[in-house]
Amino acid sequence: MRTYLTLAFLTASALTPAAAQTIYPIDRADILAGSQFDFKVEYPGLQQADGVRVTINGEPYAKVLGRSATFVEREEGKDQSALILRDVALKPGTYKVEAGASTVTWNVFATGPRKAKNVILFVGDGMSAAHRIGARLLSKGIDQGKSLGKLAIDDMPQMALVATAGSDSIITDSANAASAFATGHKSGVNAMGVYPDRTANPFDDPKVEPIAKLLKRRMDLAVGIVTNTEIEDATPAAMATHTRRRATYDQIVEQFYAVKPDVLMGGGLANFLPKEAAGSKRKDGTDYVAKFKEAGYRYVTTAGELDAARGDASTGKLLGLFNLGNMDGVLDRRFLKGGTVKKFPEQPDLTDQVKASLTVLSKNPNGFFLMVESGLIDKYAHALDFDRAVYDTIMLDNAVRQTKEWAKARGDDTLILVVSDHNHPNSLIGTVNDDMSTTPNVAMRERIGVYEKAGFPDYPKPDADGYPSRVDVNHRIAIFSAALPDHYETFRPKLDNPNAPTVAGKEKGTYVANEQYKDVPGAFLRLGNLPAMMNASVHSGEDVILTATGPGSERVHGSMDNTEVFRVIVDALGVANGE
Ligand SMILES: [Zn+2]
Repeated sequence: MRTYLTLAFLTASALTPAAAQTIYPIDRADILAGSQFDFKVEYPGLQQADGVRVTINGEPYAKVLGRSATFVEREEGKDQSALILRDVALKPGTYKVEAGASTVTWNVFATGPRKAKNVILFVGDGMSAAHRIGARLLSKGIDQGKSLGKLAIDDMPQMALVATAGSDSIITDSANAASAFATGHKSGVNAMGVYPDRTANPFDDPKVEPIAKLLKRRMDLAVGIVTNTEIEDATPAAMATHTRRRATYDQIVEQFYAVKPDVLMGGGLANFLPKEAAGSKRKDGTDYVAKFKEAGYRYVTTAGELDAARGDASTGKLLGLFNLGNMDGVLDRRFLKGGTVKKFPEQPDLTDQVKASLTVLSKNPNGFFLMVESGLIDKYAHALDFDRAVYDTIMLDNAVRQTKEWAKARGDDTLILVVSDHNHPNSLIGTVNDDMSTTPNVAMRERIGVYEKAGFPDYPKPDADGYPSRVDVNHRIAIFSAALPDHYETFRPKLDNPNAPTVAGKEKGTYVANEQYKDVPGAFLRLGNLPAMMNASVHSGEDVILTATGPGSERVHGSMDNTEVFRVIVDALGVANGE
């Protein structure tokens, strides 16, 4: 009896295919028909090549996917085997993948016919409702509770709330958030264009196809990627590249070069320069500015050069790099001259970047996709610099307004989407009421006006672009973050440079309050509620707002997932029509 049981057990285990640890794409993935993705099955232990059995809808996977995978017996030299098959695509349908007891199901979807010639995706990075309302108050004004105007980003026929969680966490960063928009797949923190697998190599993870590659390969559309952060930063990079680690800037530049977006604009020149060059952050001697130029790009570094490129009918592909690092926000560029403005005095406004992009991209008779990011909203929100975050939200609004007018003049053939990629825990709670010109003799806390004491702020009437000429007014909006490192709270706008709430602490990897602000009149040390390893405020997990206008925008309504933003884009363009 005993022998019999043992034999039965052995026989059963020999016949039962090993269960996978993970199958990529993951369960419930929505995959665009015809888009390319990598298929990977990871086993927790060692397997024999002829022992692994993976089926899709009951058939051998190789039959369904068209070819056999590479079998890796000892992945990373460890007792763990894997199957990997790159660049496959599927027809529409439901696919059940089985590897032993592990199963995942994919939904492969087609699109309807093309509705839009062009799609423009505006991303307010980290833009929360508080930034939006702040922008409305400052740029439109308010009288007896009614706004004196609408923001262009609000004045759209379609609106939805978008959930932002990643495949690994309820809190997302800009990498996996932008990757969801650009591929329709969830990913993990720091990753874009890939499913983060178990290996350490940041470039071997199972890939999914980002929008820039997809639209060039399938439809020969022009593609523009425009930001005011470093162009290698997560949101712009996710449109075209694949990496498990968003900090791999050198390789992101290499991948941009391989994809060759028609327009590529932002900061981040440092990783385009060979390591010998002044200001370079590259680890090799390759001159990517020279390479892009050789590939036919017009290269511009100032607002004046950008304007000239726009006015020149011969401008085909355009590379604009206006700062070694992040560009400066509009409050510094126009008014305060802080940040790196003195070093880079001729950086263009996001509206100039968009204007030039539309001129260049619309030369393609097949249409185009353009992503525009107002990326510093997030950086300023991290740094608890709410004035600068609100001014860059007004800048985003200006860019959207001019784009809506541009689209209208063409007969509305363009889908325009405006979305935030993740929230910040920022809230508008009232006003700060004190005289900026004098040293306060009442504790600053007691100067916070809440409820009826908030009243209305007294910013000067905004200029033609919606910017009040100063933020250091006596009755100013109070936005606070709910996620804080230790820092000195001054309740005052930072008029010299963007806020820097923390500095490195004595213990490696920790941060403490920046004493630079200790002696600001009324400042006090505010103990944080975040771990000491955090040098700034953090993202939050609430849904974000998506607004839309133009052909294909009717899909934007109600409650949506961030992966569905991709679906709205590809459906408007009819990328997989008749698949
Ligand atoms: Zn962020």
